[in-house]
Amino acid sequence: MDKFLPFALPDIGEEEISAVVETLRSGWVTTGPKTKQFEQEFVQYLGGGLEAISVNSATAGLHLALEACGVSNGDQVIVPTLTFTATAEVIRYLGADPIFIDCDPNTLCIDIAQIEGKITQQTKAIMPVHMAGLACDMDAIIQIARKYNLRVIEDAAHSLPTKVNNVMIGQHDSDAIVYSFYATKTITTGEGGMVVTKDPELAKRCRVMRLHGISRDAFDRYTSNKPAWFYEIVAPGFKYNLTDIASSLGLSQLAKADRFQMRRQQMAERYLAELSDLPLILPPQVVNKESDLHAWHLFCCQLATDKISRDEFIQAMSELGIGTSVHFIPLHIQPYWKEYYNLKSEDFPNATKYYTNAFSLPLYTKMTDYDQTRVIAAIRKILA
Ligand SMILES: *Cc1c(COP(=O)(O)O)cnc(C)c1O
Repeated sequence: MDKFLPFALPDIGEEEISAVVETLRSGWVTTGPKTKQFEQEFVQYLGGGLEAISVNSATAGLHLALEACGVSNGDQVIVPTLTFTATAEVIRYLGADPIFIDCDPNTLCIDIAQIEGKITQQTKAIMPVHMAGLACDMDAIIQIARKYNLRVIEDAAHSLPTKVNNVMIGQHDSDAIVYSFYATKTITTGEGGMVVTKDPELAKRCRVMRLHGISRDAFDRYTSNKPAWFYEIVAPGFKYNLTDIASSLGLSQLAKADRFQMRRQQMAERYLAELSDLPLILPPQVVNKESDLHAWHLFCCQLATDKISRDEFIQAMSELGIGTSVHFIPLHIQPYWKEYYNLKSEDFPNATKYYTNAFSLPLYTKMTDYDQTRVIAAIRKILA
């Protein structure tokens, strides 16, 4: 009997283990040389010309980016309803209000055609999410942002690496792009994230606010020739710094990011080919295989049959030893968001319909070909 196949697992090798042990032995465990190196190599990975600010989660990074963009009390920020709650909660941290927009059923990303109609005097920013690792049309979003003088913060939690029209996500003219290194993401530091930006002022504000609003970080204090005890508080900041333990793990993972993406893509293509005859809506794909790259963080499907409900399907998969998930329960359905903003499902028909039938299949580099054969066989047993 095969063991239960979990929905997701991190891919941690001996390189990561040695790197973390080396950091533990080094005597410097919090933010220091490994974190600086991780930030530098992350920028190189995205093609250079950026500043990177490592943080202890993408949620922290999104919060810092919005704060640095000046989002505050009473402002509005446009977000998709089909995302994780972190995208919207950080807006509330600042006393501002998320304005939710339905998804485009062809991409599962924010429906760009609905953005302009939601812009008001209070609108300050747009936060697109590259759903599952498929890029939003950033040129279109940035054009709208320029027209209405709005800031753009990309939630790139799913998109390492993602490319559209030969441009890496991270390199568009947004104010900030925020990555996640949570355990299930395409690379992991356990918990962690990265803000990247082309704007030196924004980078500076994020760096100061990342660590208590201190004008110099601890590493700088202990290595520069100014007295180590002296620092100045210039704002009521946060405690969002990434540790060197996490960064050494991140450096080893980053070195594998391209290989991980290739393997994910190979697995996604196998699912797409071997599930194509079943009553399923398979995930949206890139428009142009030459110039676009899908990170394939998630493989989001929809049932296209009345014979079995989504909940029954997930139960049946579980009984066959396969873990699945749902990405996401749209925010307009979640009690807090629904009640606080009096949101109606009828106003989000695409995300509501998607959610009714949605499930995500396991897709991660620790899976073997045999694991994937089991997933496909289980689905065929239920649906064929
Ligand atoms: C995972 C995720 C986040 C939050 O990332 P953390 O690093 O866990 O804070 C934000 N947005 C989306 C879309 C995510 O999937």
